[in-house]
Amino acid sequence: MRFGFDIDDTLINLREHAFHIYNKKLNKDVGLEVFHQLKTVEIHEAFGMDKVEGGKMWTSLLEEIYFTNCPAFDGAIEFLNGLQAEGHEIFYITSRPLEYCPRTKEWVKNLGFPVKDEHFFCGMQDQEKINIIKDLKLDYYFDDKPAVLETLRDIPTKVYVKNQSYNKEINIPRVNNWNEFNIY
Ligand SMILES: [Mg+2]
Repeated sequence: MRFGFDIDDTLINLREHAFHIYNKKLNKDVGLEVFHQLKTVEIHEAFGMDKVEGGKMWTSLLEEIYFTNCPAFDGAIEFLNGLQAEGHEIFYITSRPLEYCPRTKEWVKNLGFPVKDEHFFCGMQDQEKINIIKDLKLDYYFDDKPAVLETLRDIPTKVYVKNQSYNKEINIPRVNNWNEFNIY
C-alpha cells in the first residue's frame, strides 16, 4: 500500500514546540492548557498577538522552530518504520516553504523517520497537496489541517485526520495516538 503523511502537527509536535519557544522569547509563561484550547492552527492568540504580529513572530523564528529539537509524536516514528518493514511505500507531503525543504528532509531523516529522497514532496501550497496525492495514487493520507482536509473529500484515497484542538469538527477517521493506531 501507498501511505502519505503531512509532517508538521501530523507526525511531529511542531506547534507545541513553537509554543515553548514563544514563551521563552516573550518572557511569558502561558500554560499548555491554553495551547490545548486553541481553535486555530496559528498559536499567536495565546500570546495576545494579532494575525500580523503573529505572522511576523512565526516567520522570524522559523529556523529555530523547524530545526531544533521538535519531538515526533509518541509512536509516529515506530508506526512509519513498521509500515516500511511490512513493505509499504511511504511518502511525505509538506507545505513548508521551498527554501527550507532540503534541510527539512535531512532533519526528518535524522529524527528516525524512513525517508526515500524521491518520496519527499515539499514546498507546495496547502490546496496543491491534492494533486500530488492523486498523482501518487495514495491508498492512505494523513494530515491535521482543516484547510487541506477539506480539499480531499472526493478522492479514492482514504484520508485520516491527526487529532488536534483545531480540527475537532472534521468528521473523518481520526488518529488520536500513533501508539494505538492501526490501519487494519
Ligand atoms: Mg500539518
